[in-house]
Amino acid sequence: MESPHTDFIRQRIQSDLAEQRLSQGVITRFPPEPNGYLHIGHAKSICLNFGVAKQFGGKTYLRFDDTNPLKESDEYVDAIKADVKWLGFEWTEVTHASDYFEEIYNYAVELIKADKAFVCSLDAEAMRSTRGSLTEPGQDSPYRGRSVDENLDLFQRMRNGEFAEGEHVLRLKIDMASPNINMRDPVIYRIRHVAHQRTGDAWCIYPMYDFTHCICDALEGISHSLCTLEFEDHRPLYDWVLDNINLNYHPPQIEFSRLGLEYTVMSKRILNRLVDESLVDGWDDPRMPTIAGLRRRGVTPAAIRDFCSRIGVTKQDNTVEMNLLEFCVRKDMEDSAPRGMGVLQPLKVVLTNFTEDQSIELQGPWHAQNESLGQRTLPIGRELYIERADFELEPPKKYKRLSPGEMVRLRYAFIIRCDEVIFDDNGDVAQLNCSYFEDSRSGQDTSGLKPKGVIHWVDAEAGVPVQVRDYQRLFKVPNPGSDTLLADINPDSVVHLNAVVEPAIMQHDSPRFQFERQGYFCKDAVLPDVFNKTVSLREGF
Ligand code: ATP
Ligand code: MG
Repeated sequence: MESPHTDFIRQRIQSDLAEQRLSQGVITRFPPEPNGYLHIGHAKSICLNFGVAKQFGGKTYLRFDDTNPLKESDEYVDAIKADVKWLGFEWTEVTHASDYFEEIYNYAVELIKADKAFVCSLDAEAMRSTRGSLTEPGQDSPYRGRSVDENLDLFQRMRNGEFAEGEHVLRLKIDMASPNINMRDPVIYRIRHVAHQRTGDAWCIYPMYDFTHCICDALEGISHSLCTLEFEDHRPLYDWVLDNINLNYHPPQIEFSRLGLEYTVMSKRILNRLVDESLVDGWDDPRMPTIAGLRRRGVTPAAIRDFCSRIGVTKQDNTVEMNLLEFCVRKDMEDSAPRGMGVLQPLKVVLTNFTEDQSIELQGPWHAQNESLGQRTLPIGRELYIERADFELEPPKKYKRLSPGEMVRLRYAFIIRCDEVIFDDNGDVAQLNCSYFEDSRSGQDTSGLKPKGVIHWVDAEAGVPVQVRDYQRLFKVPNPGSDTLLADINPDSVVHLNAVVEPAIMQHDSPRFQFERQGYFCKDAVLPDVFNKTVSLREGF
């Protein structure tokens, strides 16, 4: 696996190890909420959490942060596990926030007993209007003075299911005047009469993220709780909870910047909308920035890991250019993907001096610079297809491809000359009649002819018709907004082409190919005879 560059988190871990501060070694966790599929931003967190544990011989838990049963499901749990594995990482154990519901509840009771938590019966609107603002302090809840006994009784009855949703919540008693809004008596439990995917009907009160996360981290002995920068303002609350309960282990929370990628969105809420509103064909649509979408598009785990290693880990907010991801994808496939021929916009060529039923079996390497990929057979007969873009009726100066009266070499085959152009009723070029030079066969050329260009082609009879899906950016603007989502979406983000590929491509085990001169393509994992374009051969193509 790629050797990671060092960063401030790895330096911190190294010094913690050097100073023997980690009696249990390095223990990290990746804590997704199972409310959607993982995206490339999560890959950054996965590479970091699993990567440091691997580097320093530690452990990583895959912990499902399943405290919001309304939005969560097993489909997401299974997809997340599959994606983490596919990315090349192994967890020490799968855990769930819900594994600790009883412990978390007991810590809440402990806080009530210490008069550090109270049951508040303000409705959501009243709670909002008394929270204050960045410039103004909040106001104490009128329920803040409830006695410990009353709070214990109400909280027990909340758990028993005696109240409706929203009737009561449990709040910490910290400081309504704190400049940090997160510290203004935050809610730590709310009533939800919703069955949970794992605990069923056992609970109708669920703990909030800020209360849950730090306790799970401490119970699991996490040595470094790595999270994204938006949680920096939550760190005082993380620390407050662990300082005020009887749990004698306190992990440090360390924040790093989120990954943003141009021309796409990374929030699961918005990705969910794209799926729900059928703006894409599901979570694994090859245009999606999800791991499942990237996989279907043909991107490999190695390319994603390389990308994550190149962007590094810092505290600077960064939106990365799509070009960097594409660069990593290309680099990964350059030497390893077999190179075959696919004609995306076919133009028929008839070799008039080929006899009707003649067919020659040519050979070509799968990769001219990587012999280990072997050879394939390339049949050629009287009729074939070339790329429409490789023919010009009126070529510009120094044109190297085919035009009337001119010659070109067919890759791994013969030199041909265009003798006649046949037009259809609309006046468009429909067919080229060409002659081929028998003594110009690649590798055995004695013709002395020197055409300037080499083009790709596919035999018409042996070639296989396929659909090629060429993807453009999903959004028209670098930073699409959630309010402007519909307006920002690129209506032409996929083009379907009726293409034809050489037969050996269909027989090969590899799903990924370079189509010579066209780009990298991947056989669709679901639809037969469909190829997804992974990336072009060059930047900005
Ligand atoms: P979203 O807003 O997309 O739902 P999230 O942070 O709520 O993202 P979680 O499932 O809670 O999603 O994330 C699991 C872990 O992945 C968290 O530790 C989170 O910080 C990290 N993560 C999520 N998005 C990114 C990102 N864009 N870059 C880096 N890490 C991320
Ligand atoms: Mg989240």
